[in-house]
Amino acid sequence: MNDVAPASAELLVVGAGPVGLFAGLSAARAGIDTTIIDHRYRGFGRGYAALLHPSTIRLLIEAGVSERALAAGRKVSRVGLRVDGSERVVLELPAPAVALSQSALEQALLAALRGTDVRVLSPCEGGVLREDGSGVEVRVVRRELVTFGSPAEYSDWQPVESFPLRAAFVIGADGYESRVRSALGIDVMKLGETESFAMFEVPADPAPSPDIELSFTDSLSAVMLPLAEGRARFGFQLAEGLAEDPTPARLSALMHERTPWFEDGLRTVDWSSTIHFERQLARRFGNGRIWLAGDAAHVTSPLGAHSMNLGLAEAQDLVRRVAACLHAGVPLASLREYGSERQREWHKLLGYNVKFELLKHAPAWLRAYAPRVAPILPASGSDLKQLLDQLGLKVS
Ligand SMILES: Cc1cc2nc3c(=O)[nH]c(=O)nc-3n(C[C@H](O)[C@H](O)[C@H](O)COP(=O)(O)OP(=O)(O)OC[C@H]3O[C@@H](n4cnc5c(N)ncnc54)[C@H](O)[C@@H]3O)c2cc1C
Repeated sequence: MNDVAPASAELLVVGAGPVGLFAGLSAARAGIDTTIIDHRYRGFGRGYAALLHPSTIRLLIEAGVSERALAAGRKVSRVGLRVDGSERVVLELPAPAVALSQSALEQALLAALRGTDVRVLSPCEGGVLREDGSGVEVRVVRRELVTFGSPAEYSDWQPVESFPLRAAFVIGADGYESRVRSALGIDVMKLGETESFAMFEVPADPAPSPDIELSFTDSLSAVMLPLAEGRARFGFQLAEGLAEDPTPARLSALMHERTPWFEDGLRTVDWSSTIHFERQLARRFGNGRIWLAGDAAHVTSPLGAHSMNLGLAEAQDLVRRVAACLHAGVPLASLREYGSERQREWHKLLGYNVKFELLKHAPAWLRAYAPRVAPILPASGSDLKQLLDQLGLKVS
């Protein structure tokens, strides 16, 4: 990530997470002159997202991400669902989802970007944004690792340069604490209670099930996701924030209480964490020439893997619309549709201002759980509708 900083670009993407990298790649495919900035070196450390929806696989391949890189993940074709001791319902995904680590996805995106003209600059922070009739001026601060003192030396990332970058459009893909969102004065709406999860990754060969297993016990959700290389991820929603560390003993206890259908032969935990997820949505997805995608616009629980997957779809949709404005003379006002369509999609997903209708073949428990089911199913768009049809739920 060390390209020379340009004075201008057609598109500036703030944030080089999966959504920003994918926005850059989609923009390159659309022939848009693009710069991506990130205020951190992300490196290839652990990323949290672990599942790509079937529709995401299609988008990634269309954008030129290596199919070989995606094949390193584990294909999953079915979802098992159990509610309060009911019989297991099995849903068939329209095409396989792929369990692939976020860092592997980011590497695949960076590899695809290397074959394009997109510039990726870091650590460069996007600050003040000023929009006028023909573009947006963004103040970028570049940092360098500076070493101080002798003989007791220490190093710190210090601002070394600040320069204006002018772009016709800006995509804020700068995550949960988005500066772009705050610069636009957009607040976030809370669309549900904060949920806490104990998450565990374990060696498990074979995985406890070849399917994604979702369940509710006394209204608390749980997931088991089979991963590549003989591993599995468990997530248990907690009634309240976990006081104890998520140790192997805690995993055994949670499995015993909440997922007794899995054999508990798991003794080693490679990674565990307790994480709190808000359920929130930006009041608007942007305006004028500055728009948001990904966690900058929304956050939800990890069970259905929607945050990143919908973020990638948003990036592709937004870039397509920006390309139409830049190269086909489509008016700027057309971008408002991006905002309204994405708002509607999230309202539907999170059960806000929507109607639920149970079809004849719906299981009895669905009446009580209808608003909670869509957000945990691992699919988006028409694929999600197909899963809900199988289950017997119509959301409108
Ligand atoms: C435990 C856990 C499990 C999860 N599991 C899943 C899953 O299975 N599937 C799924 O879809 N999602 C999952 N998620 C969510 C997923 O990790 C996020 O949705 C995803 O990282 C969002 O990508 P993003 O690119 O929008 O934002 P981020 O990944 O947050 O990237 C934002 C980038 O912007 C940069 N940035 C911020 N501010 C600035 C600035 N001012 N200037 C320049 N750069 C800036 C940051 O350094 C960062 O690199 C999970 C999350 C957690 C915590």
